[in-house]
Amino acid sequence: MMTATKKRLKIVAAASFSLLLVVYLYRAISASTVGMPGGVGVVGRLSGPIEEEQQGQWPPTEDAIQRSLQNAYDAHNSLIKEQRAELQRTKEQLAQLEEQIRSLQTSTPRKYPKVKYLNYKNRKRILITGGAGFVGSHLVDDLMIQGHEVIVVDNFFTGRKRNVAHWLGHENFELIHHDIVNPLFIEIDEIYHLASPASPPHYMYNPVKTIKTNTMGTINVLGLAKRVMAKVLIASTSEVYGDPTVHPQPETYWGHVNPIGPRACYDEGKRVSETLSYAYAKQEKVQVRVARIFNTYGPRMHMNDGRVVSNFILQALRNETITVYGNGRQTRSFQYVSDLVDGMIALMASNYTQPVNLGNPVEQSIEEFAQIIKQLVGGPSPIKQTKAVEDDPQRRKPDITRARHYLKWEPKVPLERGLRQTISYFRNELARSDRFQESSNKYFDSPDLQRSRP
Ligand code: NAD
Ligand code: UDP
Ligand code: UDP
Repeated sequence: MMTATKKRLKIVAAASFSLLLVVYLYRAISASTVGMPGGVGVVGRLSGPIEEEQQGQWPPTEDAIQRSLQNAYDAHNSLIKEQRAELQRTKEQLAQLEEQIRSLQTSTPRKYPKVKYLNYKNRKRILITGGAGFVGSHLVDDLMIQGHEVIVVDNFFTGRKRNVAHWLGHENFELIHHDIVNPLFIEIDEIYHLASPASPPHYMYNPVKTIKTNTMGTINVLGLAKRVMAKVLIASTSEVYGDPTVHPQPETYWGHVNPIGPRACYDEGKRVSETLSYAYAKQEKVQVRVARIFNTYGPRMHMNDGRVVSNFILQALRNETITVYGNGRQTRSFQYVSDLVDGMIALMASNYTQPVNLGNPVEQSIEEFAQIIKQLVGGPSPIKQTKAVEDDPQRRKPDITRARHYLKWEPKVPLERGLRQTISYFRNELARSDRFQESSNKYFDSPDLQRSRP
């Protein structure tokens, strides 16, 4: 684009210069004929007083020649000024054209992943709060591909536009920058309510905001669902079981949560979120679905997420120490994100209204998990135990009998396959951030910027 513009500018400049030269030569020739019998040059026309003075006077006086030259010089200068102005106008027109091309490029249909065509009856308008986050963006992909209209509402606290950038501009997709703590008035058929930080460092960063998001945010979502009679799926969590005394955890277990500990903003926030959902269901007849999500991993997890999967993979890829918090005997069960998305969509479509665990029942100790990551990534990273974190749940494994029975759902992706996919994602992200670092260094070293510094 820039080369084409430069070429055009060069052509315009060359044309202007040639025109100028022709005019100048023509005037010079005409000037040389001024005063001669039959001579009616341009300069002669411009230098009227000389003609008058010179009538019958040949050769002209030195004074007359001086004035004639001055006039020719002035005429020449004004012509150059005109040409410059013309060049400026052309440049401006070119800039306008460039702008138009740019806006055309952004508004013309880009290549999108293929989406199914759904007719008016089957196509739903679906709101996903927190849709620019890790899980939300994968849900966006599946619902878009199924042919629905998807509206993402996100405040970009932990999510980012890049997660859904491949849908921007698609006629079925809309991205709204909005904090769900504030009311939202739109028309939709279904809501997946995922807006909430999910990783412990993120939700502990601003505990009050985490509580507001999970209480006031959920009230707004339920109020919206009530007004437009939409079905709502609430993304709850295995954290509602706290540090469980029952193992594995069925949905009937009420949990063991410290209400004033560092995890309480999230755990209690999600518990209120569930309570609100069933209150709206009972009192306002809102159709609610509650997914209790267990530890999930996969591509598009945030690099600074702070959760165990991203931490261990990044540490191993950077040949740094893999940090196990505490003695590493605490357990978790990890599900791949595509399994979770399938489960959420199945739950939304089902008639089952009680909470449903969505997780992979394959359980690992964190120490074992560190070994698995080290072996899959390769490299010399040592595994070291560090200080234990407060209120860290010691055992976690979902009982997925309900999901199997009511949703005909169970996880399909084995840990190793899912982890390989995730490792390759983080490897690319690291390479990308290195490239970015390099090019931003170039940018900051550029002579133009140095000159502009005081
Ligand atoms: P994430 O942090 O990647 O995504 C959360 C999204 O919500 C982000 O895009 C963030 O910007 C947005 N958000 C946060 N506060 C908001 C607000 N006030 N208004 C609008 N948007 C807001 O997390 P995730 O892992 O994708 O989790 C998604 C949901 O699933 C969360 O509700 C989380 O509690 C739940 N969950 C996730 C896991 C898991 O392992 N990933 C486990 C249990 C529950
Ligand atoms: N609300 C919203 N969008 C709507 C309808 C309601 O954000 O389309 C909000 C509304 O601002 C209120 C909350 O949802 O704060 C709960 O609504 P509800 O109707 O249950 O309560 P009320 O408005 O009667 O307090
Ligand atoms: N963990 C760890 N090292 C890390 C990050 C986490 O040992 O760098 C442990 C953490 O103490 C917990 C488990 O891994 O026992 C899972 O932590 P995560 O933050 O991923 O999720 P949680 O299930 O605690 O919400």
